[in-house]
Amino acid sequence: VSLKPIVQGMLEHVMERSDNNDDGALSDAIPALQEVDPRPFALAVTTIDGEQYCAGDSDVSFTIQSISKPFVYALALESIGSAEVLNHVDVEPSGDAFSELSLMPETGRPFNPMINAGAIAAHALVPGDTEERVDHILDLFSRLAGRRLTMNSQIYRSEREHADRNLGIAHMLRARGVIESDPESVVDGYIQQCSIEVTARDLSMMSATLANGGLHPVSGERILSPAVVRQTMSVMLSCGMYDIAGDWITRIGVPAKSGISGGVTGALPGQLGITAFSPRLGPNGSSVRGFRVFYELSQELSLHLLDAAPATDDIVIHSREGQDANGKPWRVLQVLGAITFPGAERILRELSDLSDEFTELSPENARLVVDLSSTLRINPIGRQLLAEAVRRIAEQASRVIILDPAGLLDRLDKAAFGRAELHRRRDTVPKHKAVTVHEPTLELRPEGHEE
Ligand code: GLN
Repeated sequence: VSLKPIVQGMLEHVMERSDNNDDGALSDAIPALQEVDPRPFALAVTTIDGEQYCAGDSDVSFTIQSISKPFVYALALESIGSAEVLNHVDVEPSGDAFSELSLMPETGRPFNPMINAGAIAAHALVPGDTEERVDHILDLFSRLAGRRLTMNSQIYRSEREHADRNLGIAHMLRARGVIESDPESVVDGYIQQCSIEVTARDLSMMSATLANGGLHPVSGERILSPAVVRQTMSVMLSCGMYDIAGDWITRIGVPAKSGISGGVTGALPGQLGITAFSPRLGPNGSSVRGFRVFYELSQELSLHLLDAAPATDDIVIHSREGQDANGKPWRVLQVLGAITFPGAERILRELSDLSDEFTELSPENARLVVDLSSTLRINPIGRQLLAEAVRRIAEQASRVIILDPAGLLDRLDKAAFGRAELHRRRDTVPKHKAVTVHEPTLELRPEGHEE
């Protein structure tokens, strides 16, 4: 039974609700965009492991326009580092329209890389001359999309002939020392960047790579580093939707970027890349149906970032009593899932209660296993708190063993655990359903250990 139609049907259903909405108009910012077909409507969703659900006209090409901005920003960050990029472009929402000739009064830098001023500056930060920059950009976009992309020369030429505003911005940037390169060639490269053709399917794959922390969902290639992705998605969240960024985040809650050709793409960390496409724009320069369909999808699939399950839901802690083959009592604390700060804090409370029980036992009968064999991951603060907890308990107990077959705690110095013993032996992992711990726990003992 193929169950893909279940999810596919949800997408189609969501699209149907906006199907008859013909509000808005084609962009008048670029003459050639007035000529495009206003009818295509697409919704594409890509999971972080590369499954795609495409509805409507997901294979219709359109120029990427401003949706190129977050990806070129990521390329600049990757190429010259965050500190240097921040010396040229800030990360503050402007509340302005995308084409505003504006700089932050305090810093003299563009507000953010999502409006044209910041995007043109970010383009200029990509190393090389105009041709090399465009090559880099086309290459990056193609790797993200998973196929070779090309440029739409007709729309490029049309925008190039009507580039006064962007040229004005670039001259302002050079006058203020934000860019050093020739404004004409920077704008030429920037317009080429905006003319790269993509489909909704492509863009959802590109965004899914962001959602996946920079690892390509299909090839598994590391294309961007996690820190770069985090910074890029942060500015998408705060500035990606220009002067409707506030409305977008409160109602839809997905870091996103729109473009004047009618695309909107969103990246939901650890979950999905999502793209909608419909060329008719509202007064703010974003797709009318795109907004609508993102809203419906966010509602329908509960995608709002702030509706995310609390991190404590990622963890299950089982506390059990057991005994070894010699009939000696052990306490076993098994941790399933992921340990981040909130989970670690709960483990500490659990361990406190558990070690209180030790005081009722004779010290030589106070034995504890912390079983991490079903723990998926642990972050640095989780590691630190767990090590400190077992170190303190080990001072009071007869034995404390941490079972860590995956080596989640390897990065910590052995000394951090004090008297607690770290074991990696996979064959000694107690079974999940075993409430009473027999042989396996006994086998945990290092060879030659004296009780
Ligand atoms: N190429 C367009 C410009 O720079 C992109 C604008 C947009 O999509 N918001 O004006």
